[in-house]
Amino acid sequence: MTDSRYDVIVIGGGIVGLAVALEITKRYPRLQLLLLEKENRVGQHQSGHNSGVIHSGIYYKPGSLKATLCVEGARAMVEFCREHGIPHKVCGKVIVATHEDEFTRLEELRRRGETNGLTGLRLIGPEELRDIEPHARGLRALVVPSTGITDYAAVCSKYADLIGLQGGTILTSTEVTGLRSIENEVVVETGSSAFSATYLINCAGLFSDRISRMAGETPDVMIVPFRGEYYDLIPERSSLVRALIYPVPDPQFPFLGVHFTRRVNGTVDAGPNAVLAFRREGYRRTDFSLHDLASSIAFPGFWRMAAKHWRSGMDEFRRSFSKPAFVRALQRLLPEIREDDLVPGNSGVRAQALKRDGVLVDDFYFVATEKMLHVLNVPSPAATASLPIARTVVETASKNLGWAR
Ligand SMILES: Cc1cc2nc3c(=O)[nH]c(=O)nc-3n(C[C@H](O)[C@H](O)[C@H](O)COP(=O)(O)OP(=O)(O)OC[C@H]3O[C@@H](n4cnc5c(N)ncnc54)[C@H](O)[C@@H]3O)c2cc1C
Repeated sequence: MTDSRYDVIVIGGGIVGLAVALEITKRYPRLQLLLLEKENRVGQHQSGHNSGVIHSGIYYKPGSLKATLCVEGARAMVEFCREHGIPHKVCGKVIVATHEDEFTRLEELRRRGETNGLTGLRLIGPEELRDIEPHARGLRALVVPSTGITDYAAVCSKYADLIGLQGGTILTSTEVTGLRSIENEVVVETGSSAFSATYLINCAGLFSDRISRMAGETPDVMIVPFRGEYYDLIPERSSLVRALIYPVPDPQFPFLGVHFTRRVNGTVDAGPNAVLAFRREGYRRTDFSLHDLASSIAFPGFWRMAAKHWRSGMDEFRRSFSKPAFVRALQRLLPEIREDDLVPGNSGVRAQALKRDGVLVDDFYFVATEKMLHVLNVPSPAATASLPIARTVVETASKNLGWAR
């Protein structure tokens, strides 16, 4: 017996689950939609703990989902923020090379960006860099004018309001604890109730692999949590940064390297690093879960990843425990920055899918079965790309279902 029957249930009230629910209520207003979120508000995990950057799409492999959906998503996000009065700014950013051996990668980024359809990209020298970011130092830099900033927690709240207005139901404080498939339905169990639906979409972020396993699947990936820690610039020193200052990323690693971000509220933060977390949703260094750690190390890909990335992993741990080491990484971009200019800030935990062969999944990754779709890898820039990700997910889900508009 179930408490209620729906056409579609979405698990996860992060920006991706909300965008998917929004797309369904917009496209298929006659479908009964339920979104289940375990926290008491939407957007409490990755979607509310990120850098707030509207990424341009420069970094991603041409033809990948990340590249196409990010470029489209950036435009859609700016448009959405404009339409709904959400604070945002297309402030542009600079990616700064501080060593000559980064020149080739910087040039490659420019080519990638142009292939991905970005316009206005410019390679500049140290003088022009100083005109844009007077305190940044580098040998060469790439100007990316279409990068912006917003507040993704506010975007999540607006998505949720619109879902409600369009007839969808969101239940917060409702954790999915079990899934069963019977005949033409999926039964979703929560602590005190059960719901059924003809289709289920799993957008559970850091727990998406576990939800997929709960549904009886054997996902070929495991979610590895990587914590990103930030420092805040003290207000007296926030004038050191006008907009966004990034290093040239390491192509071996899926993260962008510590950088400076001016937020829509005017504050500036530095980070995030990327430290292996010992708990999914482990926001503090001391957070630890035996279950999470044991499941990580039991996965064959974990040790292969560790063998490949141990050196950069150790550097990240060092920067996590040593403020001087963190500051040294920042001084490459901004030599004037001092330890006293920074106070500990927020942190976020990224859900990064890892394959059995130890490779960190680079692109967005969804797996569809007859009655379910599992969103198994939507790391950055998924907040930027949330609207087109939702369209892609819903088009995939609706293919065989004959949902009537
Ligand atoms: C430090 C950091 C910086 C980032 N910076 C940027 C950036 O600048 N720009 C950008 O575009 N992207 C950025 N990202 C990436 C972006 O934030 C994520 O890609 C995006 O938020 C993923 O959204 P999501 O909905 O998949 O996950 P989440 O926001 O984590 O949502 C998943 C939801 O599922 C819920 N859930 C889990 N299990 C259950 C269950 N059993 N029952 C019910 N609910 C459940 C969780 O409570 C959670 O609310 C950053 C991420 C991090 C961590």
